Amino acid sequence: MPTTPAAVTRLIEELAELPGIGRKTAARLTFFLLRNQSGLAERLSDALRELKERTRFCSVCHNITEDDPCPVCADPARDRSTICVVEEPLDVLAIEQAGVYKGIYHVLHGVLAPSEGVFVENLRISELMARARDSGVEEIILATNPTSEGDWTASYLLTQLRPLDVRVTRLGRGLPVGGDLEYADAVTLSRAMEGREEI
Ligand SMILES: [Zn+2]
Repeated sequence: MPTTPAAVTRLIEELAELPGIGRKTAARLTFFLLRNQSGLAERLSDALRELKERTRFCSVCHNITEDDPCPVCADPARDRSTICVVEEPLDVLAIEQAGVYKGIYHVLHGVLAPSEGVFVENLRISELMARARDSGVEEIILATNPTSEGDWTASYLLTQLRPLDVRVTRLGRGLPVGGDLEYADAVTLSRAMEGREEI
């Protein structure tokens, strides 16, 4: 009985741990890489190594960055009195591309989802609370996605932020309900940012 080389089995197992990739897809990707002649496997392995070696989390906003603090936090032209709270680094990218926001960010790295094992302590919530207590902060924009988990996370954050001397706002209407911020176009995102309302 022929056996699969250990290196092949290992890659299949590692790839299968990625979200959205089952064992079947992992096996298909592995054999694709094995047959590929253009050096894709080598480039991919370099890219993966660089990802961990060259990037880290910003110690201020927790966005992914090559330099700490990240370019946004280090930029003296940004308005430090306003913090926009988002779920993922890709949301920062989407808002930056819309080009209407001049404040700084806070990346939670997910949303509250107890059924999936994501609790308050798994997100960068205590770090947000510490920043919100800073006297220079005047407004916190809750820009979690307009999904049930995103709304629920925003409600939780509101209860925590309410006692503090800070204005809490939520992005305005117009964002597709159930959708992700990162997929909203720049015009919609700009409008939602400008139309934000105190909650
Ligand atoms: Zn930062």
